[in-house]
Amino acid sequence: MSSKSAVISVIGSLNVDLVTRTPRVPVAGETLTTESFNTGFGGKGANQAVACARLSRTQKQASNKEASDVEVRMVGAVGDDEFHEGFLKSLQADGLGTKGVKILKGKKTGVAVIVVETGTGENRIMFCPGANYDVQVEDLVDDDAAVVLFQLELPLQVVLYNMNLAREKGAETIINPAPAIPLPDEAYRGLGHLIVNETEAATLSGIENPTSWDEVASVFINRGVKNVIITLGGEGVYYRTDKQHAKEQPGQIVPARKVQVVDTTAAGDTFVGAYSVAVARWRSSAQTTEFDLDSAIRNANLAASLTVQKAGAQSSIPWVDEVSSS
Ligand code: ATP
Repeated sequence: MSSKSAVISVIGSLNVDLVTRTPRVPVAGETLTTESFNTGFGGKGANQAVACARLSRTQKQASNKEASDVEVRMVGAVGDDEFHEGFLKSLQADGLGTKGVKILKGKKTGVAVIVVETGTGENRIMFCPGANYDVQVEDLVDDDAAVVLFQLELPLQVVLYNMNLAREKGAETIINPAPAIPLPDEAYRGLGHLIVNETEAATLSGIENPTSWDEVASVFINRGVKNVIITLGGEGVYYRTDKQHAKEQPGQIVPARKVQVVDTTAAGDTFVGAYSVAVARWRSSAQTTEFDLDSAIRNANLAASLTVQKAGAQSSIPWVDEVSSS
């Protein structure tokens, strides 16, 4: 990698996805014959790392092992079971660095059981963390990335430790706090970018029935977040900055693209990946202008709209050339 590469470190989960597609979900006690079953590599951390890698290089660049202007590192843990080798190879084929992935002896790789309801494209996920929860704080550290991206599929103390470390080093911090659990105030203080969906926004703000997204964003900004982004599924994306808040300006909505939805799995992960690449490129620039939040969100909204048109998790995350040609 050239020394000018912007480095994104994704500190997060790696799971094997066990995916069933079904016309509807069974009721309690019912056995239902489903349409299909597939396995794939996933986990919010790995999916978002793959999204960062694919949305900053072409598939040709990745298969030729050509450098891109954005270096993406996966930091996480797998078990030394039958899944881990294939998982690491798959990440490397996408152009990701995997030196930060610990292989834990005698442990199991995390598993996510995903049920996709084909009629609606909605998904339901059950997560068994395995190695993701067997890590110690000092196992997962990358202290020289310009941008550090977090989710909440790792033990909270691992996330908080690394958030503090990233802040101390002056790195740009991004968190997609999924699955949502209440976070201590220190998580929000000086946080660069908070990306939540509607459910996470409600859980973390404590506002169940908001009168406006501005009300919800204000809660997070008052806790110390600079940029609040709320993804609204088929409705698009809401965003507001601390500067808009200080001037009492409302946030903005970017509508979703009108597309044929097949499966929304990994839409949020694609959005977060595309957004993080924009942050990394801005960080590696001279930063003579402010971060162009609106462009970053519009591009991430476009990338995520491609993901919902395909089935699967990582398999549905587009490469950068697919986004630019759409
Ligand atoms: P997931 O957990 O399924 O990956 P999420 O709940 O984290 O997703 P969403 O708010 O559902 O995130 O979607 C993220 C983004 O994906 C949206 O802001 C939008 O850009 C895009 N998106 C989601 N659903 C649709 C849709 N029906 N049509 C077009 N774009 C969509």
